[in-house]
Amino acid sequence: MKIAVVGMGPAGAYLSALLADNYDIEVFEMQNKETFSSICAWGTGYYKMEELLKDVGLNFDDYVIHRGKELYVDLKNRIFTVKLYGLSTFNKPKLLKDLVSKVKVNYGKCIRSHAVREAFELVIDATGIYRALLPPVEGEDFLIPTVQYLVKFKHPPFDDFYVKPFKSYSGYLWFFPLDNGYAHVGAGDARYGKYVYEVLAFIKRYNGEVVRKMGRPLRLTPPSLATPHYINNIIGVGESVGTVFPLLGEGILPSMMAAKLLKDNIDRPKRYSEVLKSRFKRFEDAFRFVKLKMEGRNLMHFAILALKLHRYFKANRDHTGVDPSILDTLKVLKPF
Ligand SMILES: Cc1cc2nc3c(=O)[nH]c(=O)nc-3n(C[C@H](O)[C@H](O)[C@H](O)COP(=O)(O)OP(=O)(O)OC[C@H]3O[C@@H](n4cnc5c(N)ncnc54)[C@H](O)[C@@H]3O)c2cc1C
Repeated sequence: MKIAVVGMGPAGAYLSALLADNYDIEVFEMQNKETFSSICAWGTGYYKMEELLKDVGLNFDDYVIHRGKELYVDLKNRIFTVKLYGLSTFNKPKLLKDLVSKVKVNYGKCIRSHAVREAFELVIDATGIYRALLPPVEGEDFLIPTVQYLVKFKHPPFDDFYVKPFKSYSGYLWFFPLDNGYAHVGAGDARYGKYVYEVLAFIKRYNGEVVRKMGRPLRLTPPSLATPHYINNIIGVGESVGTVFPLLGEGILPSMMAAKLLKDNIDRPKRYSEVLKSRFKRFEDAFRFVKLKMEGRNLMHFAILALKLHRYFKANRDHTGVDPSILDTLKVLKPF
């Protein structure tokens, strides 16, 4: 079968690697090869990534930049630490390029027209936020704006990961360490327009030098609502169908996990759509939690959802990379 994979993010690149031996795969990526990168803080859970990469013959240690031990959480300028379980930054563009090394890649090709549908038996929409080939999300598509800077610090302010949740859990500011004094510093925020100012103030306070500015919206709509997942011979995978954990904005591993579900159901789109919804059911709770907090809704909802989410963190620490105690979870989810 001839398959076009449109988009070379974690979803498209990992799916291509999984299918490379059994199908005729062609990847289309709108960025150029020389400047190819990924607007992302490059943070991920070591253990799940190690497991998924083994399946395609790659070793995650070849890509790790910083392996975290503790997360500094800043609540109203009081900092406490949460134990990490493998949260690491890694060289994401290098990994994505290596994942597609066995298939034909067309860089610099922005696919918008449906002509590609006629040339291939199956077309994968792995274009993330754009959903370039799938129709728009049927209901409300919940996107939050983000901004991020690659920053060089002479004296990095933290030796590990740092986050500062915003009021009403409308988003957070992050400092994700890379190597040689570099870090990604950014923020996403659904309600308060101040986040750009907060990031710039953070960089200034610690004498950082901005090397590059980037940003794009992030889709928080979970898979159960980011429908349709397929139409005609087009199937979506990754952030295009909502595989971002709404509480953390974590989308790398969930998008690769979705690619695995698609690989197992490549000729059964209806079944794929069902397993996708069921595998990421907890994303709906996280999405409801974020919306309730933003709307300032009642404490009863907060307690029940916070407990469910705590259980989720415990069961999925291999990919979230964090291992909070129940008190940590309640403290972090409370703001303010
Ligand atoms: C600022 C920021 C920081 C983040 N930090 C993290 C983090 O630290 N950890 C984490 O787990 N998640 C993070 N995320 C989320 C994560 O980056 C995404 O959810 C994840 O990369 C989604 O993977 P994907 O393959 O579905 O889509 P993407 O990674 O968005 O990849 C889509 C690809 O498709 C290409 N493309 C788009 N349209 C077309 C077209 N028409 N034709 C051809 N190519 C096209 C794009 O150039 C891109 O390469 C962050 C997101 C943002 C915005």
